[in-house]
Amino acid sequence: MDAQATIEELEELLPLAAQWVTEQRQRALCEGVPLSESELADAREVGVKNPERVRLLRVETIPVPAHPMLRAAAVSMKFLPAAPRGLALDHAIFVRADFWRDRSLIAHELAHTAQYQRLGGILPFLRTYISQCATVGYSNAPLELEADANAKRACSA
Ligand SMILES: [Zn+2]
Repeated sequence: MDAQATIEELEELLPLAAQWVTEQRQRALCEGVPLSESELADAREVGVKNPERVRLLRVETIPVPAHPMLRAAAVSMKFLPAAPRGLALDHAIFVRADFWRDRSLIAHELAHTAQYQRLGGILPFLRTYISQCATVGYSNAPLELEADANAKRACSA
């Protein structure tokens, strides 16, 4: 995929992606549970502001967008791993049932929550994240590498 096509596709895609994230965030905020004391400490360690507002929602499978354009883009731009274990949507975090309360996974997702806060919310986070995945791939995206590093540091603190 050439870079120009990717950027144009990304700009078309962003409002749809942001809408989906907003809907899913609302669901997790309504149905989810607050962080435990130790998770609150990890959240502060990775830089989350107001960690008491974070909610964790346990799900059998991490939700994926139903919209065909978003699905196609997720595949072609590789911004969703094949079988995600967790998903941070601002301060709402989906956790797959077999990783429920898994410290390192939750610390990683909390590091993404801190990134949403730092970058200024859903739209700027998605713009940065998706363009990184489209250019260097999910596993080399700087926001992923940073989340891994911050989670590791928090868990060894
Ligand atoms: Zn991640």
